[in-house]
Amino acid sequence: MGSLSMDEDTPTGRQWNRLRVIEALYRRPASRTDLARRTGLSRPTVSSLVEELTQMEIVQEHAAPDSPQQRSAGRPPQLLSLVRDAAFAIGLDFGHDHVRIAVCDLSGEIVIDDCSVAAVDHAPTPSFDLAQELVRDALTTAGIDEDRILGIGMGLAAPVNRSTGSIESEGFLPGWHGLRPAEEMEARLGFPVELENDANLGALGEREFGCGRDAQNMIYIRLSTGIGAGLIIDGRPFRGTNGIAGEIGHFADATDGLICRCGNRGCLETTAGPVALASLLEKSLNVPVSIQDLLDFVTAGDRGARRLVTDAGVAVGRALAAAINLINPELVVVGGHLAGAGDVLLDAIRSAIAQHAIQPAADALRVIRGDLGDRAEVLGGAALILTQSPLTLLQQFEAH
Ligand SMILES: [Zn+2]
Repeated sequence: MGSLSMDEDTPTGRQWNRLRVIEALYRRPASRTDLARRTGLSRPTVSSLVEELTQMEIVQEHAAPDSPQQRSAGRPPQLLSLVRDAAFAIGLDFGHDHVRIAVCDLSGEIVIDDCSVAAVDHAPTPSFDLAQELVRDALTTAGIDEDRILGIGMGLAAPVNRSTGSIESEGFLPGWHGLRPAEEMEARLGFPVELENDANLGALGEREFGCGRDAQNMIYIRLSTGIGAGLIIDGRPFRGTNGIAGEIGHFADATDGLICRCGNRGCLETTAGPVALASLLEKSLNVPVSIQDLLDFVTAGDRGARRLVTDAGVAVGRALAAAINLINPELVVVGGHLAGAGDVLLDAIRSAIAQHAIQPAADALRVIRGDLGDRAEVLGGAALILTQSPLTLLQQFEAH
């Protein structure tokens, strides 16, 4: 199995050119002329590479959709695209109370999408067992050979140290501190596994499959049991020095607030996280309130619930304003459970941003709810593999 690291497995010049063709065709069919333009390679070189890749059954040729112009020109132009079922990527999302799987083909089409309830937070081993079973079941159901799997993009609701692959802090995912979940899943399944923080995957998911398509500078904020953000800067995921970038949930919102699970005081998560809001509503109503109950109260027009969500939106907007002044994004995508509160939340976020960010940055920005709901993270896992894996793909096919 090919590694993604160029140092370990440096491709040859010819491989590089094949890679450029595969990358240029990733989710965008093209004519030979377009392909030459996209890759900067000469037309004859492109033709000979396409021939090789067609023989390897990675690239296929088909007639372009009919248009009046083309009909009058006589012969229909030929388009090239990747063969959809040549390879597959798997996303795995370990949430606080579930493990979710998505399998996508090379075109990004979702082949399998499944979810199982699990107490993930305190129980890494049963969660690994469940994920292993979900992967095996998915491949059997879809009839996919294991040697067609490019890899697994795996998301966890905790800061992930990209340089060590370990979970960074005890407070975030009790029972998981110091574990290396990607190594564990690799050993169990035999596919390359890449671990990523869930909000980072949510950002990738919305950018590849959802409302953030083509966004160059984007913040995805996930308002769930935890609050986190994933950043896309200059069209690429931004992770910081060791993968911790985007921990906006631990922005100091109230200096005299509650102690947060990260050990600081008054973090945004303690003032605006859905768990904190549900527990505040519980105190005022004197009945147990789940996050779903909170959203139902908001929908039903409960004044207390709407006030809580509005105040949370203002706090989130204030924290985002600081990030917006730093990054100047075109898009903020709001995801996670609390996004279910809709405009009550979004309008409060928008008005706080308008108030606290500098005007030209606020003017350049749209704040919208994510398209993918609770599938953003798992689809981001598959997207992580699809966008990073042309080299893996090529090496798998060359080995056949
Ligand atoms: Zn905190």
